[in-house]
Amino acid sequence: MNETEETRTAKKLIIYCSDTRVDLWKRIKKHLIPAGEWWQPLGFLGGAISLAHSEHLPLEYAVLMVKQIPFAIRKFPTIKEVVLVGHDCGYYEDIPRGMNFTVEDKEKDLRKAAALLRRHFPNMKVSAFFAEKKDSEFKRIKCRRTKQ
Ligand SMILES: [Zn+2]
Repeated sequence: MNETEETRTAKKLIIYCSDTRVDLWKRIKKHLIPAGEWWQPLGFLGGAISLAHSEHLPLEYAVLMVKQIPFAIRKFPTIKEVVLVGHDCGYYEDIPRGMNFTVEDKEKDLRKAAALLRRHFPNMKVSAFFAEKKDSEFKRIKCRRTKQ
C-alpha cells in the first residue's frame, strides 16, 4: 500500500537542535530513522536544552511543554515515543556557565530532560541520543526510569 499524507502515521516525535551548521536532521534521517518510518521532527535552536534548564530558558521550556509537545501528541496519536537528540550546542551560551559545560554535562542534561518528559507524559516512551563528531553515528544515552 502506498502511503499518502492521510495514511502516514508518525511513530515518534523527535526533538533536536535546528542549527543548520551541524545539520542534525540530515544525520538523524541517515542514522536513526529506519527506512519507511516517519518520525515527526520538532526542531528549534537549542533543542531539549530548555527541558533541563527551564529556570534559565522559561520561554523555550513553555513553548515545548505547553504548546509543541502536547499539540504533536494530540495531532499524531500514533506517536508513542519522544526521542531527544543533543549535541555540543552553542545555545548553552544562554545558560550561566553553560559554555563551560562538558560533553558529559550535556549528556546528563539529556537524562534530566528525558526524566522530565516521563513525569509529564507518563504514557510516552522517551529515549535520548547525543550527536558526537560530525557525520558519525549517534551515542545512545542511557536514561534510567525514575520512580514517581
Ligand atoms: Zn545546537
